[in-house]
Amino acid sequence: MPDDMARPLVRGRGEGGASRHLEALMSEPGAPIGILGTGDFSRSLARRLVASGYRVVVGSRNPKRSLALFPQDAELTSQMEAATQADLVFVAVFPEHHSTLLQLKPALAGKTLVDVSNGLQINRGGPSNAHQLADLFPESFVVKGFNTISAWNLQVGPRDGSRQVFLCSDHPNAKNSVTQLCRRMGFVPVDMGHLSSSLEIENLPFYLFPSWRVPIVCTLSLFIFFYLYNFLRDVLHPFIKKEKSVFYKMPIDTVNVTLPSVALVMLALVYLPGLCAAYLQLWWCTKYNRFPSWLDRWLTRRKQFGLCSFLCAALHAIYSLCLPMRKSARYKLLNAAFKQVKAGVEDSWVDEDVWRMELYLSVGIMALGLLSLLAVTSLPSVANAVNWREFSFIQSTLGYCALSMATLHTLLFGWNRAFSPDQYPFHLPPTFVLVLIFPLAVLLGRLALFLPCVALRLRQIRRGWERSQHIHFTLTDGDCNGLEDVSDV
Ligand code: NAP
Repeated sequence: MPDDMARPLVRGRGEGGASRHLEALMSEPGAPIGILGTGDFSRSLARRLVASGYRVVVGSRNPKRSLALFPQDAELTSQMEAATQADLVFVAVFPEHHSTLLQLKPALAGKTLVDVSNGLQINRGGPSNAHQLADLFPESFVVKGFNTISAWNLQVGPRDGSRQVFLCSDHPNAKNSVTQLCRRMGFVPVDMGHLSSSLEIENLPFYLFPSWRVPIVCTLSLFIFFYLYNFLRDVLHPFIKKEKSVFYKMPIDTVNVTLPSVALVMLALVYLPGLCAAYLQLWWCTKYNRFPSWLDRWLTRRKQFGLCSFLCAALHAIYSLCLPMRKSARYKLLNAAFKQVKAGVEDSWVDEDVWRMELYLSVGIMALGLLSLLAVTSLPSVANAVNWREFSFIQSTLGYCALSMATLHTLLFGWNRAFSPDQYPFHLPPTFVLVLIFPLAVLLGRLALFLPCVALRLRQIRRGWERSQHIHFTLTDGDCNGLEDVSDV
């Protein structure tokens, strides 16, 4: 009775007292945590909470029905009883049924409600489920979170699967309590600020690789374009002009010529937006103008472009290693040997071809090695282990080295064939000529930025210098006959 007397009769809207009490409870492993609902999420959550040392009270409309499904240490009771006992309550009920909990309003006043719900589809206009719950229970402290963690993930624990739990609330103490709880369960809380972020958090489970969409579409489009182009030149042309069927080339040969083309263009597209940004800054003479949104988006997707390029380059290497295993390659080799014997040629060694091939392979291996390094350092765990200077050295300096190597690899492949008329079937230039346009433009553009006058101006601009620091004013007609005067300050 004295304890009851010490408790305030009416909990105020301010969360101070209740949350302090709650924080104290959070630090005790035996503090009761409430869960409303007995579905998949509730069962997995109860199991994880019990495993983390918490006492769990589950509120159900029909407690007896689900008793066998919960761990023995969890108490299954009525919704009202659970809401009364616990100070932190997870609402593991679909948002459509939140309104059926309104009878618990007095029992939940002054308590923390964790809204774990997800919508049915991306909700751009709002309001979020969490906002609607906060409107239904204005005297409770609503925290949004745990909706990105699946019931399965909760059951197996945070060692397998996503560990991040995005949390937001308008009540800092309530959010802190859930943050502590989250840590104790082995998850990594990510503070997303106020409840206004709840819409974004609720939309997170619906995103399907949002930052990968453009790079993947680009890779696929380039692949289709180059594949059709190579098919036209290498397969269809001999069939139409010489009635020679070389359709066997389609699964390996054509793919293996297409993959490096895509890899090189994609790698050039990694460095092209950086160049565009530099030239725009030079043009504007300031770094404070906003880039167009397409350039902004492109700049933030460079890592994905690079990884797509790496994938194509790695596949090209594997395909190339497999080339001699093919039956067609063996027949071709034998036929060539027979032809030489027939023609009485004893030594088929051509010094120029040998040198070209040695250099071509060596430079290609180097390019792939550098690309692998770039791919590894783009992994968050590795990127976090290097400082900014090291990261930019690898991604920029070594990246340009990889681009130069890959370009040289393609130039060595082309050698002098670009000048041979029989390389232009249907008047189509060889694929390597098309492929080289982007990387050569990027490399030349980068070289131009090394010119001392350009480099100095760009450095000044990036240190905050701008042309608008010069006062730009126009005198009236009467003062100077309409001439503009530009003065330095
Ligand atoms: P579920 O299996 O269908 O369970 C929902 C529970 O809500 C029922 O078992 C029921 O328990 C309770 N409930 C209370 N009032 C209700 C009413 N009027 N009508 C129907 N049910 C009522 O759903 P769930 O998969 O556990 O999901 C629960 C919440 O967690 C949802 O908001 C969902 O978006 C979210 N979530 C789920 C997952 C997941 O992997 N499943 C992941 C992230 C978030 P009683 O009959 O015992 O009252």
